[in-house]
Amino acid sequence: MPNWVRAMDIVTEFEEKCGTPIGKLRQVADAMVVEMFAGLASENGSRVKMLISYVDNVCNQIFNRNRNEDGLFYALDLGGTNFRVLRVQLDAGGGSIKNLEFTEVAIPPELMVGTSDALFGYIAAELANFVAQEGKGFYLSYGRERELGFTFSFPVMQTSINSGTLIKWTKGFSINDAFGQDVVAALTRALKKQGLSMHVTALANDTVGTLAGGRFLNRDVVAAVILGTGTNAAYVERADAIPKWHGPPPRSGEMVINMEWGNFHSEHLPLTDYDHALDFESLNRGEQIFEKMISGMYLGEIVRRVLCRMAEEAAFFFETVPPKLQIPFILRTPDMSAMHHDTSPDLRVVGTKLKDILEISNVSLKKSKVIVKLCDIVATRGARLAAAGIFGILKKVGRHASENGKNQKTVIAMDGGLYEHYTRFGSCLENTLKDLVGDEVWQYISIQHANDGSGIGAALLAASHSRYL
Ligand code: ADP
Ligand code: MG
Repeated sequence: MPNWVRAMDIVTEFEEKCGTPIGKLRQVADAMVVEMFAGLASENGSRVKMLISYVDNVCNQIFNRNRNEDGLFYALDLGGTNFRVLRVQLDAGGGSIKNLEFTEVAIPPELMVGTSDALFGYIAAELANFVAQEGKGFYLSYGRERELGFTFSFPVMQTSINSGTLIKWTKGFSINDAFGQDVVAALTRALKKQGLSMHVTALANDTVGTLAGGRFLNRDVVAAVILGTGTNAAYVERADAIPKWHGPPPRSGEMVINMEWGNFHSEHLPLTDYDHALDFESLNRGEQIFEKMISGMYLGEIVRRVLCRMAEEAAFFFETVPPKLQIPFILRTPDMSAMHHDTSPDLRVVGTKLKDILEISNVSLKKSKVIVKLCDIVATRGARLAAAGIFGILKKVGRHASENGKNQKTVIAMDGGLYEHYTRFGSCLENTLKDLVGDEVWQYISIQHANDGSGIGAALLAASHSRYL
């Protein structure tokens, strides 16, 4: 028999520890701003690395392309779970996209922890397949080599718009021989081996790609946030507010900063024992603490850990702990999301998921409700913290306060599977951001889903940095 008192104690204690009252979120946002200043001041000034993207003119570059020619550009978007390849045909002047095709491939898990050659070899082979299918509606101008924008969603110290070295892996990747390597050089080598003639023209983080893609459509976009396997943000900063930048001042006076906010940490973060244990057992212990509370790779796993404790200490399911429940990462965030969105009166989806994934049958409605509640606690905390991070950015760029009806429009481009599919997460984030900025300023702020923005953005960055301009 389950010990209900003990089980509910565990839930209540977890809920209290996960609390994110608005005052705490303001502290988190302020701490984020402090880290942003520190990261901009010097190279190792903060855990939040505030990386220079070399994208310094997100609006104009794209429009300043040679106005007489069409352009065909490719992009490769390597995320945490999938990678996408796409091609776009831009019209003369690059003002609009005439044609777009893409395909998505799951990354085989063994490649995430293998060798650099194996990973890039696989990607190059898939890209070669895709290029071989280039057909109607796509034209490469005579005498040109195909050009590619490479979206690489891991922290990279860039040395130019198309070179940079990997700082560390995140999101379950661990390929030791890739450290310190130039990722563009590695990709270029793999392309050559495939016999694929293609020039890597731009390297961008997915947040930077999303920002560029978002700005292409809407000039009011000032920041981009990714909520997918991992989480990160990029925004447009004034060049003179970046003390660590010693290069030539960009003509636009602006520079896109890839924050790498997943590595944010603060004493104000509502961390629990479950978070500490998850972190301790992860491939990147002590790193990406913000990401581990917010993003798709981890939310389901946090729920699993709480359930496991309830099974162990309160015999929540049976007298013994269900063996499947003890397997790390078996409960994925999409499944958690499906349970959380279950609106059937008897919580049928929860029952099905528990049976299919954890081999636990005949769960009572009362227990199913507790499980939905756990999902809610974990998703709410993640969404509210993400909102606090965005509020931090708004504060940093001075878009958070009322200017007596004279506020500029502010758009935040969002992308990633978590944001796209986990509806309750997205709406909680929006409501929280609204509470943080207040009703008046909220009128000037909007959050827009930039569907596949990172891939399209990378293709546009390749266009704006083309060798044939
Ligand atoms: P990546 O982050 O690898 O670039 P995506 O942006 O496509 O890829 O995000 C994929 C992640 O989004 C998955 O790992 C998962 O955590 C999350 N996700 C996908 N579908 C759902 C869903 N239905 N509900 C909640 N989260 C989801
Ligand atoms: Mg992605």
